Amino acid sequence: MPRDSVPVILHYKDSAFTVYSLEEYNALPDSLKGNEAQQYYIDSVYRSMEYVAAPAVASDDENTPDTSFFFLALFVFIVFIIWSIYRAVQQFIAEQKAHASVPSIETEESIQQEPAASYLVYKGASLRFSNEEIDKVCRKYNFYYQKLQTDQQLLFTDRVKQFIRSKDFYICAAKGYKEMPILISASAIQITFGLKDFLLPHFANIVIHPEEYFAYDPFRVLVGNVQGQSISLSWKHFLHDYQHPHDGKNVGLHEMAHALQVQYLFSKAKRSNSFKEDYAHYDRVDDVVLNAERSSSNRLFDDNALRNSNEFWATAVELFFEKPSELCAQYPDLYKSMRLVLNQDPAAM
Ligand SMILES: [Zn+2]
Repeated sequence: MPRDSVPVILHYKDSAFTVYSLEEYNALPDSLKGNEAQQYYIDSVYRSMEYVAAPAVASDDENTPDTSFFFLALFVFIVFIIWSIYRAVQQFIAEQKAHASVPSIETEESIQQEPAASYLVYKGASLRFSNEEIDKVCRKYNFYYQKLQTDQQLLFTDRVKQFIRSKDFYICAAKGYKEMPILISASAIQITFGLKDFLLPHFANIVIHPEEYFAYDPFRVLVGNVQGQSISLSWKHFLHDYQHPHDGKNVGLHEMAHALQVQYLFSKAKRSNSFKEDYAHYDRVDDVVLNAERSSSNRLFDDNALRNSNEFWATAVELFFEKPSELCAQYPDLYKSMRLVLNQDPAAM
């Protein structure tokens, strides 16, 4: 049956007759076709019928809208949105569980028996790494450790061990590696190596994500953050940054710098401590450098650092360890004050 086989009844004087296609209609004498408006109307009716009845696929006419493609794209889009929401919710639930303050004790064995869990829990107290294991991992990945004298390395590994014991590690992945607790703890020990107190006891949890992760309220994608009793990091970015030790970027040190602020400046705001007293020296010079950087065309600090004084501090710590000579040369007062706060001097190592 032709696509345009649609009956249209035409009236002429007292009689009426029917045509079934545009072809038939066009073949009529002009006197039967009616006036111009009627002709246009009948033409449109047949053409629209033709369009509706046209096959949905394999049209060569580029101007014909391909409705099937539109619905397919819409379907794919909806599936993608549902999948994204599902993934975000799963991650959110995992994170909420990870942030719960009193998790039950789980051994490595019991974790393996529960493959459905979306994160692994390692109580630091149950992770019994030897000094040799810690030394081996730090020697391979931690540029700061590599430069320490032997006796300092012994002190460093001992501190890493104590730090690990004092934390719970939540790994939001199917598999964990011993490098995760060792190296993340090592970055905490690196920043606190000149300090008497190095355990950051305010933080009970270290949360390790395999890569970038979501945070809520407001919704954002993060590579590291410090919230409540947890220090969270993207393992991918953490490792990458330790493999590029002189580019001034180190998310591990950045988050540990925030953790130091929370531990000594914010959590017990009214109570005095020696870190807070030393930080006052830094606090006197940071604004000058922050403003100088904001108007500089050749910046040492990135955009994030210039957002506020907390980000500025965390980035200054990254530069202090990764570009100590540049920081010291460009902003000697800032460097001096940080040397005082952290009681160490990476430029001299
Ligand atoms: Zn930050």
